[in-house]
Amino acid sequence: MYSSTSLLLRCKSRKVAHRPSSLFSRSIHVSTFQSAQWITNSSEVINIPSYNDIFDWETLLNESSKDVDHLKGTGMVADYIPQLAKVDPHQFGATMVTVDGSVFSVGDAQTPFSIQSVSNVFSLMLAMTYVDDDLWTHVGREPSGNPFNSLVQLEYEDGIPRNPFINAGAIVVTDVLQKHCSTSCLLTPHTATTQHIDGASDAVLELLRFHSGNPDISVDEAVATSEKITGHRNYALTHFMASCGNIQNSVDVVLEEYFKQCSISMHCEDLAKAGVLLARQGKDASGQQLLSSKVSKRVQAIMMTCGTYDAAGETAYRIGLPCKSGVGGAVLAIFPRVGAVVAWSPGLDTFGNSVAGVAFLDRLTTRSGFSVF
Ligand code: GLN
Repeated sequence: MYSSTSLLLRCKSRKVAHRPSSLFSRSIHVSTFQSAQWITNSSEVINIPSYNDIFDWETLLNESSKDVDHLKGTGMVADYIPQLAKVDPHQFGATMVTVDGSVFSVGDAQTPFSIQSVSNVFSLMLAMTYVDDDLWTHVGREPSGNPFNSLVQLEYEDGIPRNPFINAGAIVVTDVLQKHCSTSCLLTPHTATTQHIDGASDAVLELLRFHSGNPDISVDEAVATSEKITGHRNYALTHFMASCGNIQNSVDVVLEEYFKQCSISMHCEDLAKAGVLLARQGKDASGQQLLSSKVSKRVQAIMMTCGTYDAAGETAYRIGLPCKSGVGGAVLAIFPRVGAVVAWSPGLDTFGNSVAGVAFLDRLTTRSGFSVF
């Protein structure tokens, strides 16, 4: 057992290397995603049809859903959060929202679920905008190769979590956001409105309400309480990071905000509507840049490399899209410049990713022949 002195010695501060932001400051503005012209070397002009003309999303969703019928109800629900243990694992829903705002759904796409770690995508967007590269002094951006709630890696790495999508990293992002928002801040430019918000979870909630167009989205307080009562690992991770000087608020405040953010309840359609901002490189449907294209690109890169924990390599291999999963059973996947898909089914594999959700996305990109690769 380590004495507190030796523990402190093991927590020397460390900066995570990052490239100067000026390297990324140029952005390409793409205001239309509907169709394009491609000029070949011989100056021949080829008209490229709209993605919605190429893909029959409704059929693709229905067929991909049928392909995974045998997996619906398999896997384990996240019973370490008692409230989530009550969820029926046989449910399955999926929605594709394309960049023009068209919505295609299959199954239980309007049944609310706990978005859990999918919320980390949105807290990361906010934190990266508010504090820019300072964020990377608190958290890294490499795949962890370890379970999302691992304690051991954090100790070896001096209280700096590997990436923002494992629990420790998401908690640090919440802490940074809470510091920025604790005295109420403006949720601009992300919502194109000047809106006062109070705390990290409120910022994420308002962002999701705005981009989904549903002001009734809320935190499921029963899930938040359930997480708080049983969140011993998250307390351990956060206290350890605090002992390393990598938590700026009180542990109780940070975790209160983190549990609330994870307990936001949404359905596939609303979550896909919120996620399509990333497919549009940070623009809303009218072409207004609400999130910088730089942040949009980087968030998707981290989704690709870290969004499904120690199965991120397997997810890239099978699905080939930036993805973010949560233990509520949702997976958000982005087809850049095309649309956002949410697949939801509560049964999880050993990595904490939805069995039927991942398999469905695998079928969708395989059937359509379309991914980032
Ligand atoms: N709230 C969950 C936890 O802290 C989130 C985990 C997840 O979705 N991977 O354990």
